[in-house]
Amino acid sequence: MTLRIRPDLDSLPAYVPGKAFPGALKLASNEVTEPPLPAVLEAITAAAAGVNRYPDNGAVALTEALAQKLGVTTAEIQTGDGSVTLCQNLITITSGPGDEVLFGWRSFETYPLATRVAGATPVQVPLTDDAVFDLDAMAAAVTDRTRLVFVCNPNNPTGTVVTTEALRAFLRRLPSDLIVALDEAYIEYVRPDAAHAVDALALRREFPNLVVLRTFSKAYGLAGLRVGYAVADPEVVAALSKVHVPFSVNSLAQAAAIAALGAQEQLLARTDAVAEERARVSAALRELGYPVSDSQANFVWLPLGEDAAAFAAAATESGLVLRPFAGEGVRVTITVPAENDAFLAFARAWKS
Ligand code: PMP
Repeated sequence: MTLRIRPDLDSLPAYVPGKAFPGALKLASNEVTEPPLPAVLEAITAAAAGVNRYPDNGAVALTEALAQKLGVTTAEIQTGDGSVTLCQNLITITSGPGDEVLFGWRSFETYPLATRVAGATPVQVPLTDDAVFDLDAMAAAVTDRTRLVFVCNPNNPTGTVVTTEALRAFLRRLPSDLIVALDEAYIEYVRPDAAHAVDALALRREFPNLVVLRTFSKAYGLAGLRVGYAVADPEVVAALSKVHVPFSVNSLAQAAAIAALGAQEQLLARTDAVAEERARVSAALRELGYPVSDSQANFVWLPLGEDAAAFAAAATESGLVLRPFAGEGVRVTITVPAENDAFLAFARAWKS
């Protein structure tokens, strides 16, 4: 049967996440291995008793907690059911048919997919040879039809970062009314000494067109509950609130996110261990002869080119679920030492 579904969707691929199977070790989705902290579980359990009611549509308590932590006003924060939804909603408030959404590539698959769902045109600017967002080339690619720019920092899947200076120079070159979304899903894993970390919230005071996207899915360990947020100019937040699907940030997610913010120090301490493991795994892989980009996220990127699919398929046979991008490379989540060692054992065996 042919139903009246938009025909332009036929050519769109669906988002396919890495799938675990019984007994598998999943290193495909950049999740935290540790279960939620007891205080977070308690908050979720307490909130569960009230799920006969709709959640607070404005996520007022969470928004206030975030505003206080970040030193911004509540009018500058919009929560969403994952930052992926906020990416989509930014496209919705800026772009439609004939408009262009600009981003580096390879990067987060949602950018081209959601752009095409909106009927707009994705403009993908290749990364530099070091797999970093090429901000000069991106600035040169801005046209009168560009409505939104994504900068993914650290970039998924390469883990690379741009410098504050490069980002500031980029923002200076762009029209001041062009919205630039800085996707900081992995920002908690960046180590300032190693990576010229961008102080996005400070930069936002200089550039009101800058929108910062963050999530509770990664370092805060709440991927299953779906909650993220945007820090943006009140004009952007007002527009985002209009396209927000009512009640989409559920009450368990709101309660868990507030509790996670309360336990921030404990949760962020885990990122130190991941940063150390990232250095250890990257060094071991390079010693084995693998190309590894310079990651500041909770994953590493192996640009294996034509070998990417076979490498990931062999890993699956060994019980490891990785994230391959056929013809390009493989992304591997960095977690606790025992899991990282299981991956290193596979990587060693693949070479021999
Ligand atoms: N941005 C980037 C770069 C990501 O990798 C992800 C998750 N894969 C997201 C945003 C979305 O995260 P969530 O919707 O879980 O907040």
